Amino acid sequence: MRPFASTIPLEEARRRLDAAVRPIARVERARLEEAAGRVVAAGVVSPIDVPPFARSAMDGYAIVASDSRGASRETPARLRLLDRIFTGRLSTRTVAAGACAEIATGAPLPAGADAVVMVEDTARPNEREVEIFAEARAGQNVGRRGGDIAAGDRVIDAGDLLTPSRVGALAAVGCAEAEVFARPRVAILSTGNEVIEPGEPLPPGHIYDVNRFTLAAIAAAHGGAPESRRAAEDTVEALVAALDACAAADLIVFSGGSSVGERDLVVDAIAARGEMIFHGIAVRPGKPTAFATVRGTPFFGMPGNPTSCLSNAYILLVPFLRALARLPPHTPRTVRVPLGRRIASAVNRHQFYTVALRDGVAQPAFKGSGDITSLSRADGYIEIPADQSVVEEGTTVTVTLF
Ligand code: AMP
Ligand code: MG
Repeated sequence: MRPFASTIPLEEARRRLDAAVRPIARVERARLEEAAGRVVAAGVVSPIDVPPFARSAMDGYAIVASDSRGASRETPARLRLLDRIFTGRLSTRTVAAGACAEIATGAPLPAGADAVVMVEDTARPNEREVEIFAEARAGQNVGRRGGDIAAGDRVIDAGDLLTPSRVGALAAVGCAEAEVFARPRVAILSTGNEVIEPGEPLPPGHIYDVNRFTLAAIAAAHGGAPESRRAAEDTVEALVAALDACAAADLIVFSGGSSVGERDLVVDAIAARGEMIFHGIAVRPGKPTAFATVRGTPFFGMPGNPTSCLSNAYILLVPFLRALARLPPHTPRTVRVPLGRRIASAVNRHQFYTVALRDGVAQPAFKGSGDITSLSRADGYIEIPADQSVVEEGTTVTVTLF
């Protein structure tokens, strides 16, 4: 056994991670269908006016507004019907005083008209005439050309996150693609002779791989492109070969083998190929977490215990990956509720204690670092600082929701 020489406080681990992030520089073009959630690398200026023509905002009649002066149910204005204008077609007629054209929502306003009276405020006494029951002011129910976006307006800026509405703005100006930052490639690999792929038969003494899947889910949810690898055996040679196979990744995440057991060889593999930045954090669960660079590529060595691994993925990997991907920081929701049962916490370790919310009370849900149900049956976690050893029942706690 090689005990930890020392652990570093969580804040120090965070500082070193922040200092090590190099936001991704690689760019690519994303088709609009796949652009949501991506980060814009090059701003876009609109080449066109949106809408590209003055259009009706209502089903009704395009008129010359001054023709409706004084119009009411009792004293309607009577106008000559010139045309019926549907969407996607320009009228060849000009609406002069005394005339009007039937018009659909979204159809181009005909020349001469400057307002639209909605159909509810009209009647058709015969085929050729329309009665107008309400006064309209110039511009009423008309969408001005360029009123939404004018040619030359900035549509999106570099660094913007492509939300659904920004994807919509790009579509509105006719962009079929956007230049975006590449999603960091995240190579994910589990270590351990006992680890078996779900779906395969489980030999005696083996367990199914959990971490590769929790980590891939986290990576995908926070801007990464997860690339799963098959589990590596517990030998330095196998781990070094696995590291070498990850050379093209932007971020490498191993789990298991990062503790101090004889077979916990991630440290040796890093010694052969990279530079350790920290190993061992004063948190619980998740003490045996390592961070290194491997030929310039950031490397996380996550604990093998599924809860420790996922807990530290939330706390450390998510902020790092989001910064790498140029995404804004994740701000999970929190709730303040009373604690349902007293919790004793390890002294000198910042503890993340999972809880389930039941009837407005935080019930402790932590079973053990090895139990994925410590998380899968929880709604969030509370934090107990290193200098605190007990949280009493009934104390109001802040629960960070997953
Ligand atoms: P280690 O960090 O390799 O010493 O592993 C600690 C514990 O986590 C052991 O019980 C391992 O069998 C278990 N473990 C390691 N990797 C995984 C994994 N990918 N999925 C589920 N459990 C794992
Ligand atoms: Mg192991």
